[in-house]
Amino acid sequence: MNLKLYNTLTGSLETFKSLKKGTVRMYTCGPTVYDVPHVGNYRAFLFFDLVKRYLWFLGYEVKHVMNITDVDDKIIAKCVKENVSLETLTAKFTDVFKTDAEVLGIELPELLPKATEHIKEMIDLIKVLINNNNAYKTDDGSVFFKIDSFDDYGSLSEIELDHLASTERVADDEYGKENPQDFALWKKWKEQDGEIGWDSPWGRGRPGWHIECSAMSMKYLGEEFDIHCGGVDLLFPHHENEIAQSVCGTGKSFVQTWLHCDHLLVDGAKMSKSLGNFYTLNDVMERGHSAMALRYLLTSSHYRQKVDLTNEHLYSAGQAVQRLQDFRRRLVEAAGKVTSHQAESPVLADFSSAMKQDLNVSEGLAVVFDWIRETNRKIDSQNMSPNEAAAGLIALERIDSVLSVLTDDLIQITDEEQALVSEREVARKAKNWSRSDEIRDIFRTKGYELEDTPKGTVVKRIYKTTAES
Ligand SMILES: [Zn+2]
Repeated sequence: MNLKLYNTLTGSLETFKSLKKGTVRMYTCGPTVYDVPHVGNYRAFLFFDLVKRYLWFLGYEVKHVMNITDVDDKIIAKCVKENVSLETLTAKFTDVFKTDAEVLGIELPELLPKATEHIKEMIDLIKVLINNNNAYKTDDGSVFFKIDSFDDYGSLSEIELDHLASTERVADDEYGKENPQDFALWKKWKEQDGEIGWDSPWGRGRPGWHIECSAMSMKYLGEEFDIHCGGVDLLFPHHENEIAQSVCGTGKSFVQTWLHCDHLLVDGAKMSKSLGNFYTLNDVMERGHSAMALRYLLTSSHYRQKVDLTNEHLYSAGQAVQRLQDFRRRLVEAAGKVTSHQAESPVLADFSSAMKQDLNVSEGLAVVFDWIRETNRKIDSQNMSPNEAAAGLIALERIDSVLSVLTDDLIQITDEEQALVSEREVARKAKNWSRSDEIRDIFRTKGYELEDTPKGTVVKRIYKTTAES
């Protein structure tokens, strides 16, 4: 069975075939680095991570590029307001993004090109578009893309151009355009931009947001590549504009498959600053949830469905992560010294066939949890051979190469903490319960539980499983 993906461009489920055998070239729209990202942003970034991990699972080499938007209206406004340089501000929030991504188990691409380091490529593309009569310069020194010049404009979002004039982003654009629906490729420098600007054949200014993704994706992935992902909120106008610029610039088809993930809701409502339900990763963790619970919640539903971030859902996600981690521990015990096994556990093929149906991860997880129940019963009744347990462990780790929620389980404790664990074992043998409880409480305040097993003490991370706060 082949991988099937829902291509927004054609509005249909298609069998995926990469342009180059064995390699997938994929571009995903990255963060605008002017503030701490909110969890809604991470739904998209985690979706991109899931796509990439599953392609790896299938054996593809994935060439992944994600841009860093380090110049735009909001960034410039903040730099001017806080009297800080563009480099300082964007470096700070790029670091925040990278740290959050690591905490969430997101495997960032090797290539994270910054917009400000590709101004030349953007200018070159704009020159071509002007030459091809797809773009024009206004008297004040801005350049706009002429959407009437591209017949297919609107085919991705199926937007009706007559209704366009009233949409917010379009209304935001500058004046001096031939058609109010045309979008900016180059924005003329203005007084309020302060020191931020670059020289161009059209005068000092800065690139529009859309052109960066066309210029950087094609620079690193070629004029035609396999997959472009983004949140559904980027479908129009951003991705529509990317297609217009790229196709008109090269005469080629640009992207084969467009994948869009749906929104994250918070307590059933759209996340917004005015509703006060605007959460960052830290906000979620400060409420006692683990990053892995958040990762699980944001990736365990189908990507084309909305996910509702609620405390209850985070607790359930934490429980699911805990079950997976406990299961791995049981398999490790049951496998004993056996570390490899020839036969492949059938759960792998079942999980993968669910994923092949447009990355149906909820179906895949249902398969995994059925298998866990069945395997636990076998272990309970001592019907599990070490060989079978080893095969199960290999399967679980392969599945986790896609889910990536077991990594957090590897707790590194300090020598000092290890000494406390040993002291507690001695105390327990001496029936010194008060000291033993004291040490257990020290670990609890650190977020760890000490579990006494026949083979000694196991240090586990605590996942809140009841609505206690
Ligand atoms: Zn983009």
